[in-house]
Amino acid sequence: MIRKVKGIINKYNLLDRRDKIVVALSGGKDSTSVLYILKKLGYNVSGLMIDLKLGKWSEIHLKKMKKFCSDLGVHLEVVDLREELGSGICFIKQVVRERKGLTGCSVCGIIKKYILNKWAKKMGADKIVTGHNLDDECQNVLMNFLKGNVKIGANSGPKMKAQKGFVQRIKPLFFISENEIRKFAKKMKFDICYEKCPCAFGTYRVETRKWMKNFSDKEKKKIVEGWLRVAEGLDSGDVRVCNICGEPSRKEVCKACEVLGCLR
Ligand code: SF4
Ligand SMILES: [Zn+2]
Repeated sequence: MIRKVKGIINKYNLLDRRDKIVVALSGGKDSTSVLYILKKLGYNVSGLMIDLKLGKWSEIHLKKMKKFCSDLGVHLEVVDLREELGSGICFIKQVVRERKGLTGCSVCGIIKKYILNKWAKKMGADKIVTGHNLDDECQNVLMNFLKGNVKIGANSGPKMKAQKGFVQRIKPLFFISENEIRKFAKKMKFDICYEKCPCAFGTYRVETRKWMKNFSDKEKKKIVEGWLRVAEGLDSGDVRVCNICGEPSRKEVCKACEVLGCLR
C-alpha cells in the first residue's frame, strides 16, 4: 500500500518535500495509516486532532493517538471542541437539528473543516492531508448527485485547488479502498479503535454506504474517475472573507458561522 500511496502522490503532484504537512487525525484507520505512510516516506508531518467530546469514544481515540504519534516521533496538536466552541459535537448537532433542521453528519463536517483550516494556518501548514478513501469519495459523488448538488463537488479530487485563505487539502488515499486500508492497519497492528462514531446514526451517508455494499472497488473507482472528469469543468466560485469570523468564505457569512449562529 505504501507503494500505491507514493504512486498517487507522484501522479497528481500532491506534496512537495519542503511542505509543512498537517494530517487531520480522527483516530481511525484511514488518517492513522496516511500519517504513518507519509512519515515513513520522509515528509515533514504533524498531526492535528479535534477532540469532539463524544464521551468514552473520544477519550479512547485521543489516548491511542497520543501514544501513536509519540511512538512515531510526530507532533500532535489537539483542539478541544468545548474550549473552541463551548460544546461537544452531539449537543451542537442536536441544537442545529432543532433550530435549523439540518441533520446528519453535514454539521460536524462543516465544523471540522472550519477548525482544521483555522488551526492548520496557526500551525504554519502548507497542506492539510486527510484520510478520505475511495469509498468516502464514491459516497460523496453519489450523495451529491442524488441531492442534485452537482456544483458542490467542483473543488474535489485528490488535490483541492489552492484558494486564498484556505490551506490546500490533499487526499493521498483517494483511490484506495476502505477494505485495503483496513487490511493494512491490521497487518501493521496499529493500536487504534475500529468502532464507529456513536453520533453517526440515521445519516444519508450511512444509507448510501449500505447501498454501495455490492459495488466492487473497480466500479467505485470508475464512478469517482467519471465524476472527476465532470468536475474539471466546474467553477468552484470566488472566495471572500466571512463577515463574522474573518475566515475565508464563499458567501458573506461562512457555513460554520451560519450553523453556529443558532447556538448563540
Ligand atoms: S461520523 Fe459524523 S458525527 Fe461522527 S465524527 Fe464523523 S462526521 Fe462527525
Ligand atoms: Zn465565519
